[in-house]
Parts: sequence; C-alpha cells; structure tokens
Amino acid sequence: MASCCTEKTMAVFNNFVRGEKLHKVLDVIEITPQLFVIRFMRDGLDFIPGQHVSVSIPGTGIQREYSIYSSVNDDYLEILFRVVPSGVLTPRLSDLRKGESIIVDGPHGYFKLPEEPLKHKYLFIATGSGIAPFHSFIKSYPDLDYKLLHGIRFPFERCNPEDYNQDRLIYCLSRGIDDNYSGRVTDYLSENDVDPDTLVYFCGSSQMIMDAWQILIAKGIKPEQMKQEIYF
Ligand SMILES: Cc1cc2nc3c(=O)[nH]c(=O)nc-3n(C[C@H](O)[C@H](O)[C@H](O)COP(=O)(O)OP(=O)(O)OC[C@H]3O[C@@H](n4cnc5c(N)ncnc54)[C@H](O)[C@@H]3O)c2cc1C
Repeated sequence: MASCCTEKTMAVFNNFVRGEKLHKVLDVIEITPQLFVIRFMRDGLDFIPGQHVSVSIPGTGIQREYSIYSSVNDDYLEILFRVVPSGVLTPRLSDLRKGESIIVDGPHGYFKLPEEPLKHKYLFIATGSGIAPFHSFIKSYPDLDYKLLHGIRFPFERCNPEDYNQDRLIYCLSRGIDDNYSGRVTDYLSENDVDPDTLVYFCGSSQMIMDAWQILIAKGIKPEQMKQEIYF
C-alpha cells in the first residue's frame, strides 16, 4: 500500500517536473457515439486560440495532441475528439467520467491567427474533429470575418452548430443528403470561387489538406496565405 502511494506520488512529481499537470474533468459531452467534448479545469493554463495541448490519462503513459476547442474567455478548457476504434487513447478518453483527472501538457503550436485578427478575411477548412481550433478562434473573436467549410459524413455529425453564424458556415456532407452541400470540402472548393485576399486555414487529415491546397493554388491563392494543422 505504502509503495503504491509512493509510486503515485512519484508519477505526479515526474509529471510536474516535465511541466505536465493534472486537470480535473468537469464533464464529458457526447456529440455523437464517436465524437466527444471533454471539459476540464483550466487551472490558469493560458493559450492562444489555435494552440493544442498534449493529453494523457494517468497510469497509461500514452500521450496524444488535441487542439483546444474552448475559447480564451471560458474559465474551463475543452477538447473535441473522434474515437478511433482501433486507437490507443481515444476509446479510453471516451470512458472518462466527471471527477477523474487527465494529465495536460502545453499549450503548444503555431496554428494561430495573425497579430491583428480582425483585419483579415478567413476561409477555415475542416474535416471531422478538425473543426476544433476554428471553434476556439470563432468563440474567442466573435467579430471575425470568416467562412467555415466543415466536412462531415452525415448531418448528425455537426458539432455545436449554434456557436457559429449560420451565414458563415457551410457543411459539406460526403454521405448523407439534406439541404447542405452534398460532396467533400474539396468538391466545394473546386466548384466555388475564393476571394484572392483570403487567409486560408486547414485542419484535419493530411490527404484532405494536400488535395485542398492544390485546388487553391490552382485558383491563385499563394502558399504564404495558407496555414495547416495536420491531425493524421
Ligand atoms: C497538433 C495535433 C492536434 C490534434 N488535435 C486533435 C483534435 O483536436 N481532435 C482529434 O480528434 N484528434 C486530434 N489530433 C489527433 C490525435 O492526436 C490522435 O492521433 C487521435 O486522437 C488518435 O489517437 P488514438 O491514440 O486513439 O489512436 P492511435 O492509436 O494513435 O492511431 C490509430 C490510427 O488512427 C489514425 N487517426 C488518428 N486520428 C484520427 C482521426 N481523427 N480520424 C481517423 N483516424 C485517425 C492514425 O493515423 C492511426 O493510423 C491531433 C493531432 C495533432 C498532431
């Protein structure tokens, strides 16, 4: 018993030395059976919208990166994640319950808006849980001039649509059919013009980002106008 307590104390101490901290889980919100938001104590963690944190569950030794989903104005932190059924961490993350703790390290990353965010026009392109940093941008800066393309398979995979200006949000449905655009984000980009002054941000799979990048280059958008966060 005593050695078990010592091991736990040492593990917490080692996390502390590495700059990682335990954060208490406040809520686990199921958006779909595969898509979850974990809300946890902020504990003074300062970040710039678009940055990510490394997250681990105590005792597992497994660490993965997650974009911060919440706004800089919230007194808690949130991440949004898709459960990868064959994945090592995400099935365990979805089993977390209120009151348990996660290990958080960060923030990290340079996927940020320019210094004067309200002086630009943006095109945000996301697939699946890649909407996370854009949610943080938009909730942190409600007056942002943006258009958000969100690629999902079915309409029920929308994540907190109420948090966006509906005139600025376009869902691209790759499988289900409703009033939204039917097709992938890359189809939408091929079929529609993009304002040459737009700053373009991509987040999601490397395949989508490579394909969308090439479409936009062909439309005259310069590489220096584009930024990407690759999840896998
Ligand atoms: C900077 C950064 C930020 C990230 N932010 C987020 C985020 O906000 N939300 C989020 O859900 N993920 C995010 N990821 C991906 C995340 O870090 C993990 O890779 C993912 O959650 C899978 O972890 P796992 O341990 O369950 O699966 P693993 O065991 O690590 O991977 C299993 C397989 O799943 C693939 N895979 C990884 N992610 C996905 C996915 N989303 N959809 C389908 N297949 C996938 C991997 O390529 C691998 O082949 C981010 C990655 C990076 C690098």
